[in-house]
Amino acid sequence: MPPRPLIRAAEIRRRVRELGREISAAHADRAPLLLLLMDGAFCFAADLAREIASPEARLAFLRVRSSGAGTESSGRVEMEALPELAGAHVVVVDDILDSGRTLAAVRAAALAAGSASVSTCVLLDKPSRRVPEGLARADHSGFTVPEAFLVGYGLDLDGRWRHLRDVCVLEP
Ligand code: 5GP
Ligand code: MG
Repeated sequence: MPPRPLIRAAEIRRRVRELGREISAAHADRAPLLLLLMDGAFCFAADLAREIASPEARLAFLRVRSSGAGTESSGRVEMEALPELAGAHVVVVDDILDSGRTLAAVRAAALAAGSASVSTCVLLDKPSRRVPEGLARADHSGFTVPEAFLVGYGLDLDGRWRHLRDVCVLEP
């Protein structure tokens, strides 16, 4: 069965614009701003970054692994070395907040590396899946979504479906 659209591209576009304004306003007097972009969230990251008002903002991609193959996350978070972020106001950007382990780990690492502040931004929030050690909520969040496996707009299943324009539900 083909993936079923859940959030259409036009609605995503509108919400991403609002998130960009939110983050810009929250950082109006907090510089330098560093957007730390999780590499799997490349569609959201590219669109969000272009809605950030500050021309001085820096962008860095970070490779983070939390999933094994398929739809189940392993519970372990492995990440590569962080970029230089001492003194920076860091916004960690990911596509979806699920168990919350990824953003809890990246947030803790960014704080330990001497950032001036760390906030978090996700397009999608699946609150039903949170674990106690995970990040409870993101500072900026686009849409709350039900417990389903989502693909499209960067989200994949083993490399498939990433390029779909809509966020879709993959039925089992
Ligand atoms: P967390 O650490 O919060 O459990 O997981 C975050 C990561 O798991 C996301 O960056 C994303 O890569 C992956 N993930 C969580 N839920 C989904 C989903 O519904 N679909 C896809 N494709 N990936 C997901
Ligand atoms: Mg990811």
